[in-house]
Amino acid sequence: MRLKIVQVGESVLRERARELTRDEIRSRETQELIESMRATMYDAPGVGLAAPQVGLPIQIAVIEDRKEYTKDAPAEFLKERERKPVPFHVIVNPKITLLGEPEIEFFEGCLSLGGFTALVPRVRSVRVNCLDHRGEPKVIEATGWHARILQHEVDHLAGTVYIDRMYSRSFMSVDNFNRYWKDRPTAEIRQLLGPK
Ligand code: ZN
Repeated sequence: MRLKIVQVGESVLRERARELTRDEIRSRETQELIESMRATMYDAPGVGLAAPQVGLPIQIAVIEDRKEYTKDAPAEFLKERERKPVPFHVIVNPKITLLGEPEIEFFEGCLSLGGFTALVPRVRSVRVNCLDHRGEPKVIEATGWHARILQHEVDHLAGTVYIDRMYSRSFMSVDNFNRYWKDRPTAEIRQLLGPK
């Protein structure tokens, strides 16, 4: 079942989501929710979706970066972003460790801020300790775009959205991003958009 994705302005996007117990994770209700979140993410399409984005203040998110999403992107673009396909996975009750400083800047979007994008600084590598879709402990070590997705989704579970972290002068519509900015390197964009 496809779920409605809520937009900024809904308070659920600003709450700290609550943790789930192992029994709750394994319940039929949560298993069905995971399948619905997966279908909703594919339909959007997006590379991640957190439960608060479908109106539920619980600590669960789904992630998948499919090859088809980047099939038209130049190899150089993908290499810079360290973006490779990531198989479907579920994170529950995540604790994230940022390995480094948030100094990698690329444009990022969010299904709850439809039609907009901005440069967001993120760390290159993270470790996430969480539970999987069966409630089993899991450690994810990620670098590059997968690490960015994890930072974005874990932020959602704490009531944080990318506009809290963005370089605000770079906030723009996706239409204008595609029209004027998409082929420029980050350093040039920063220079053209002016001081922080
Ligand atoms: Zn988001």
